[in-house]
Amino acid sequence: MTSEEILKSDGCHGLERPTAREIVDTLAATLSDTGVLDGFTWRLRTSARRRTVGVTIERDATVTVTVPAGSGLGQLVPVLRAKRPWMIRRTAERAQRLGEHPVKQIVTGENFPYLGRSQRLLVRDGQAIPVRRRGGRLCLRAMPAWDGARAIIDWYTRTATAWLDPRISPWAGRVGISPAQVRVSDPGRRWGTAKPDGEVTLHWALFQLRPVLVDYVLVHELVHLAEPRHGPQFWDRLDRTLPGYEERRDRLAEDGRYVWLGDIQGQ
Ligand SMILES: [Zn+2]
Repeated sequence: MTSEEILKSDGCHGLERPTAREIVDTLAATLSDTGVLDGFTWRLRTSARRRTVGVTIERDATVTVTVPAGSGLGQLVPVLRAKRPWMIRRTAERAQRLGEHPVKQIVTGENFPYLGRSQRLLVRDGQAIPVRRRGGRLCLRAMPAWDGARAIIDWYTRTATAWLDPRISPWAGRVGISPAQVRVSDPGRRWGTAKPDGEVTLHWALFQLRPVLVDYVLVHELVHLAEPRHGPQFWDRLDRTLPGYEERRDRLAEDGRYVWLGDIQGQ
């Protein structure tokens, strides 16, 4: 693991101090030596906001360990040792789900669902704009597969941004929060992120799923602006805004496994 990867892995609610890189490098190296994370792909982050050690199992079955700024190994190792059985179980579950995200082909007839509805691709020569929707089909100008995939991802991002825009205020009002910005992008291993500065990001791939599931992620992240951690207050507030949210959460965990994340064949 390089230090650059550590700094890039900017998660939900972390803030890096200027010296974080050195602290993390040193701590990660010594942590490696203890062997307590042997068998896992992991990264270490520090967070000025945290008071306790946090362990997150990411969608790609990697482990993110978040430690309070300035903490040392003495605090970290016992926590990780205690959590190890849980980490093994959760990473195995995640790993099992990983292979289910489809690898698509950029060819006519391939399905690129949008908001829960199937949408067949039509590849054709000479189309003026790279991607457009027409009569329920997604029309792509003929181009190399990687460029085509990129263009389709851009289409999801743009179209989802426009669709999401009018939904933000009503949901934010119900949560009782004013986000600084809500955008559609690629927050990596998460469906959404919420940062302390009020910026919420939703994953472009999420918009392949039904609107009720998109709303769940939007509301989940909006609630995070008020309650950064998954504590009882977080779930209470989510439940007040979105009664019966559990059904959506479980459905997202299930349907989210089959969402296209941009992997393609045949280039
Ligand atoms: Zn969350």
